Amino acid sequence: MKDIQVITGCMFAGKTTELLNRLKATNKQYLLVKPRVDTRDQLNNISTHDGVFEKGIRVNKLSEIFTQIKDIKVVGIDEAQFFSKSIIVDIEYLASKQITIIVAGLDKDYLNRSFGYMKEISSIASSTTVLTARCNHCGRPASYSHRKNHLNNTQVLIGNSSEYEALCSTCYFK
Ligand SMILES: [Zn+2]
Repeated sequence: MKDIQVITGCMFAGKTTELLNRLKATNKQYLLVKPRVDTRDQLNNISTHDGVFEKGIRVNKLSEIFTQIKDIKVVGIDEAQFFSKSIIVDIEYLASKQITIIVAGLDKDYLNRSFGYMKEISSIASSTTVLTARCNHCGRPASYSHRKNHLNNTQVLIGNSSEYEALCSTCYFK
């Protein structure tokens, strides 16, 4: 049976932390993968906003790990919104090898547009967990990523609390 788990939500919702917790809880040999675009971390370390970090490998395409999965039972994918469309077939391929896939990624960018292929990944998932953050203005559950400055309009959301904040819908649309 295919096991494809999706963890999604806005920034600061704890997606990476949840991903790392689930990977550890499997007690199986796992591989953690991240897109090469995210340069926030030291090479090959994957960190969370809480400062926890874990070794992982960076790839342009998920298929780059296909030669390294011989003893791997679980593959974790962080920041999955940055991968191109091939991630769908690549996930399907890994799942067909009885590998559990746990995918974490942003559902929407700071302009509230759907991000990358997260929606399509969710549609092939066996479970989807939507996490919320705390609104930076009022403390209510937040599901919107807001960019504090609008100097450029790139969809790439790499950053930290100095550039982005999580907002609830009321505060986001204000
Ligand atoms: Zn709010």
